[in-house]
Amino acid sequence: MSKTVLVSGGAGFIGSHVTVGLSQAGYDVVIADNMSNCDETNYKGVCAILGKQLPFVKMDFCDAAAVDALFNKYRIDAVIHFAAYKAVGESVAEPLKYYKNNLGSFLNVLEASRAHGTHVLFSSSATVYGEPEKTPVTEESPRQEATSPYGNTKQMCEDFLRDCVRAYGIHGIALRYFNPIGAHPSALIGELPRGVPNNLVPYITQTAAGKRECLSIFGNDYPTEDGTCLRDYIDIVDLAKAHVCAVTRMLEDKMDEPYEIFNIGTGRPVSVLELVKAFEKVNGLKLNYKIAPRRAGDVTAIWADPTLAEKKLGWKATRSVEDTLASAWAWEKHIAGKN
Ligand code: UDP
Repeated sequence: MSKTVLVSGGAGFIGSHVTVGLSQAGYDVVIADNMSNCDETNYKGVCAILGKQLPFVKMDFCDAAAVDALFNKYRIDAVIHFAAYKAVGESVAEPLKYYKNNLGSFLNVLEASRAHGTHVLFSSSATVYGEPEKTPVTEESPRQEATSPYGNTKQMCEDFLRDCVRAYGIHGIALRYFNPIGAHPSALIGELPRGVPNNLVPYITQTAAGKRECLSIFGNDYPTEDGTCLRDYIDIVDLAKAHVCAVTRMLEDKMDEPYEIFNIGTGRPVSVLELVKAFEKVNGLKLNYKIAPRRAGDVTAIWADPTLAEKKLGWKATRSVEDTLASAWAWEKHIAGKN
């Protein structure tokens, strides 16, 4: 019998791609989302890609009774938790909103997982490493004190999971994502930021589409070759595959430790300017951009050492940054065509 995976926040950017990956790998998937930061586009896209309707529950993970009811209704073998707020700047302005939602929802997931013996995959972030002393970062690199409530919730949720795994006999994996970008090759699902995008690639594609006048490159006086920040941009479909590998590792009892952490990145640093140039080249267009002051809180350079994920999950990033940027542009055009 196939196993059932619950994807909280499954209608969002990462959740929708993971849902497709899981379903294509033979898992039954239940999607749950409160739709607070997305519309039905991605859910419809997921069903169109898969050629079938997946169970969808509109619910808030801060509602403990609703989470309990969900776990009682479906026999859930593993849960992947994405349902969280993710705007760093907003978290600084409204820390309580972030603590209540991001911690509260995860505590409810852990409580239900404890009761049902469900394994838990948590969507963590490279933000836990802060400004690293040494690059690339391995899973052993020290976590730094968080510079935002958002980053703090990622660290705290990792710790909640570690402690619950220790105490309750469930398995847990935290995946630390670097910078997820791109869209499904079908262009039917992708990133749908509300309002002005905070992240680089949606800002680039919206500028190329004429929705934004000009991209600001935040700082060209960093101590890097071209003066702009270095990041590890990971293709969203590659990232989704890492989740399938991690869930399978948990469910097939192949873990070395009951709680494991993996970096999910390419291992290749790319500067902001390099990314902009790659976008222009692969899509054959010119982007309107200017150099602007540094953005508060940005680290100079961070990229992954993804060796552990390759060794233990059997996962490796496969898509080039050019292919990924082409998929991001195809998605932006798909969205523009709908509006
Ligand atoms: N960035 C930029 N202009 C933008 C958005 C981002 O120059 O409009 C830069 C940002 O300073 C960082 C990189 O792009 O160096 C990636 O930023 P993003 O917000 O996408 O992800 P982060 O690494 O901050 O999580």
